[in-house]
Amino acid sequence: MAEGRIIKALSGFYYVKTDEGIYACKGRGVFRKRKITPLVGDFVSFDINNEVEGYITEVKQRKNELIRPPIANIDQAVIVNAATMPSFSSLLLDRFLILIEAKHIKPIIFINKMDKATKEEMNMMQRYKEDYEQIGYHVELLSAKDTIDYDDIKQYLPNKVTVFAGQSGVGKSSILNALQPSLILKTASISKSLGRGKHTTRHVELVEVNSGLVADTPGFSNLDLTEIKLEQLGACFPEIREIQHHCKFRGCLHSKEPHCAVKEAVEDGRIRSYRYEHYVSFLEEIQTRKPRY
Ligand code: GDP
Ligand code: ZN
Repeated sequence: MAEGRIIKALSGFYYVKTDEGIYACKGRGVFRKRKITPLVGDFVSFDINNEVEGYITEVKQRKNELIRPPIANIDQAVIVNAATMPSFSSLLLDRFLILIEAKHIKPIIFINKMDKATKEEMNMMQRYKEDYEQIGYHVELLSAKDTIDYDDIKQYLPNKVTVFAGQSGVGKSSILNALQPSLILKTASISKSLGRGKHTTRHVELVEVNSGLVADTPGFSNLDLTEIKLEQLGACFPEIREIQHHCKFRGCLHSKEPHCAVKEAVEDGRIRSYRYEHYVSFLEEIQTRKPRY
């Protein structure tokens, strides 16, 4: 028996990485009975058949999992934004942040396309960087076109599983390709060797980049807040999480309640008002969502 981590799932095989190498494994029927589908990112035990093949016998407990892309045990998510084209939206950034926080994944904020930013946009991004750093996030201003920044970016990757997220056009693929030029080539050649078109099989793969593993498919493409509970929302904002236990009422939602520590902090400037406004709009979105039958 051996242990390892699934780094790729393709055509019924799970590719399990161990210190000795990569084994192409099948899942046993036992998973179907227990309704467990092994996911990329899972830690597993498997029986070795030969030097390159095996059978998965056990999937270890997950710390988290995503549905799109299907991947488990994610350590951190890099939210890629653009300073411009498409223009920066702190509301959209905050939406990504709470979705990631709700999954107990550590967010990191990248603001890309700084080479395209006007002086005014640069100053604005610098202010946002300070705001988000103030509440505990790492923020990098960068340009995928400018390789000088890559050392700053690569420092985040060692020994972690990282998923990139962000709206389309912000530069996720450009950054991933710059970090690992073989990435796209590799996935394309795998599809080719199986005699399939590039897009017929949707699969996710963890690719080794700078001693870490990076998902080759962006995550958090579904931005609805369906899975977030009302009472959970405050905890998805670090600056609210930190002080909400001072609110007079237990279960305070920081909207209409009196003696609310969060609203006081907004009034005296300890909490940025735009962050609070985003909190309120997400709260309303969750409150008014239609019940699902
Ligand atoms: P994705 O949809 O997030 O994967 O974005 P892409 O990586 O496909 O980038 C979208 C477009 O923006 C492409 O035309 C890129 O060449 C361009 N782009 C990406 N990063 C930068 C950057 O830092 N500076 C500039 N000027 N263009 C960029
Ligand atoms: Zn409150």
